[in-house]
This record gives sequence, structure tokens and C-alpha cells, in this order.
Amino acid sequence: MEHLTHFKSTDYQIEDIHLFRDINSDNRQLIAHIIKDCDVVKARTGQVVLDANSSGARLFIVLKGSLGITKINENNNLLENSITQYLPGECVGEISVLDEEIHSATISALSDSELLVIEAETLWTLIDESNGVARNLLQLLSFRIRAANAQIRNRQKVGEFYRQLSMVDGLTGLHNRAWLNNQLPGMVDHAHATGNPLSIVMVDLDHFKRFNDEHGHLRGDDALQSAAKVLNAGLRPTDFAARFGGEEMIVILPGTSQKAAIGVAQRLCTRLSKTKIFIDSLRPLPHITGSFGVATLQPGEDVATLMSNADTALYRAKAGGRNQVSI
Ligand code: GH3
Ligand code: MG
Ligand code: MG
Repeated sequence: MEHLTHFKSTDYQIEDIHLFRDINSDNRQLIAHIIKDCDVVKARTGQVVLDANSSGARLFIVLKGSLGITKINENNNLLENSITQYLPGECVGEISVLDEEIHSATISALSDSELLVIEAETLWTLIDESNGVARNLLQLLSFRIRAANAQIRNRQKVGEFYRQLSMVDGLTGLHNRAWLNNQLPGMVDHAHATGNPLSIVMVDLDHFKRFNDEHGHLRGDDALQSAAKVLNAGLRPTDFAARFGGEEMIVILPGTSQKAAIGVAQRLCTRLSKTKIFIDSLRPLPHITGSFGVATLQPGEDVATLMSNADTALYRAKAGGRNQVSI
């Protein structure tokens, strides 16, 4: 604060200061007396009034101009997009005065400003002497808590958004492997607990390396997207399709017996083999096919065994000539 210009001034109206609002005239005179020796400082635009992590508790009341608080995160990095603006009548720094902790924010002048500086000791005297100041301060703190809560809720929403995003495969829009690892164990537990059947279908596109070699990787991507659409469109709302890796996908069918799952897989296999992949409206690419391995959860079976059974079934479908379903 040394670099700021200090001076004495009573050239302000006490009732313009939010902390001293709605206070009767006797009390207002007392407040005026208590704060008459407080410094006023001038801060030029951009000037730092208080550094984050500095100690020395004091309250700043904006008399003219405006202040900005930039929050820091736990790594002491300034969060540029979290500037809050404080206008004449408002105060900053009250939390550090009350809890005697260091400031967690950097306060700087957003425009040429004049600030009334109330040292911690003086603020405590004001609280002791004026119920009105104590009441206004409580109100201010409730406001700050609500604002902080809203910010936390907002961050949670953003966090959830990115969590969801991290569970989606960018190319196909299907769930991804992280989602599968996250969800399948719970579905298996649920099936065991309720005694409901659970089937999965492992899908691998046939000769996809050749498809890429002949038509290029981008066309390969188009074909993968088409295959994913076929899977997604052919499922009930309670079923799930995920991209397991490369050109392998998995379909999860809760509440579905082996017999029904074979039926679903057969339907998907046929639809895939009939799907035209257009790169433009005139020239469809050759059809792609897939091999489908069905596995149904057995009593006491874990996720790994279920997956491995589906993989074995898929291998049989490949060995049997591809473009087919196997168990
Ligand atoms: P198979 O019928 O035995 O499954 O033969 P395959 O050629 O499909 O099997 P292989 O595992 O040898 O090759 C898989 C190919 O899938 C190779 C890889 O380039 C391709 N692939 C994997 N992921 C992608 C992708 O995201 N986009 C494209 N275009 N190709 C992919
Ligand atoms: Mg493969
Ligand atoms: Mg393949």
C-alpha cells in the first residue's frame, strides 16, 4: 500500500456507504466520529491496492471509481475471468478482517479510485458500538455466501458437462470405453442383485483394414460413423452402445436373455450389411459388414468373464466367415 497516496478526508456521505445504511442519526454521528481518522487512498487505474496472500486485515470502501477483485486458485494462479467489480458504496476485504486470514484475492483499481481504509481494529469498534453496522455486515456476509454458493453450483455444472463429454466418443458419438468401465460393473451388479438377465454383444467391423486401404482413412471414419448409427438406431432406450476401441463396438442389453440378444444382434448384423455409406449423393461406398459375439451373464459371473465370453463368441463369428452372429 506504500505506493498509494494517503490523505485524510471526510468529503463523503456516510449514508452512501452500504455498511452504514439505515442507521439512525445519533448512531451515524458516532460512526462519523469513529472513522474520522481513517485514511483515504487514491489508486490509479490498474494499480494494485492489495496483493493476494498478503496479511494485514483492513476493509476498503469504494468512495469513487471502482475496484476489481481477481481470485487466485490453489496454485496461486490468477483466474483472469473471475473479476468481480465493486462500485462506490461497496466494500471489500471484510472476510479477512473477520477471520484474520490472509487475503485470497488481488484487489486492483479498475478506474481511478478513492478508497476509505478501515483498519481491523476500527471495524471491530464499529461492530461493538453500532447494531446497525453489525446487522449490515451480517447481511453483506449472507449475500457473499449466496454468491459463493451460486459460483460453486455453476462450477459443478461445468464439471459435470466435461465429465459427460469425457464419456463420449468424439468420432461416433457413442459412449466411450471410459463410460463402459464406469457403467458396466454397476449393470452387472444390478443384474445379479435383481436376477434380471443381462446380455452384451461385441461388434467388430469386417476387413476394416482393407476398407481403409482401399478407400482411405477418412472414408473409413465415415463407415465407422454409419455403423455406429445403425447400432444406435436399432436399440431400445434402455440399451446402450459404446465404442470399445478402433472399429470395435459393444452393445449392452439389460433385461435381455440370450435368445432375445441373439435376435437383436441378428437384426443389427443384417441392417449393417444393407447400409449404404454415401460420401456424396451419387456414389455409395461398398457395404460394410460386422461380426457379432453375444454373451449372457451367468450366475456369479464377473464383468471380465462376461467380456471375455463375448470376445470368444466374436472370434467364432469371424472364424465362421464374418458378417454373422455367434454365441
Ligand atoms: P477383421 O475382419 O479380422 O476384423 O479384419 P480387420 O481388418 O477389421 O481387423 P484389424 O484389427 O486387422 O484392423 C482393424 C482396422 O481398423 C485397422 C485400423 O486402421 C482400423 N481402424 C481402427 N480405428 C479406426 C478409426 O477410428 N478410423 C478408421 N478409419 N479406421 C480405424
Ligand atoms: Mg478389431
Ligand atoms: Mg475388424
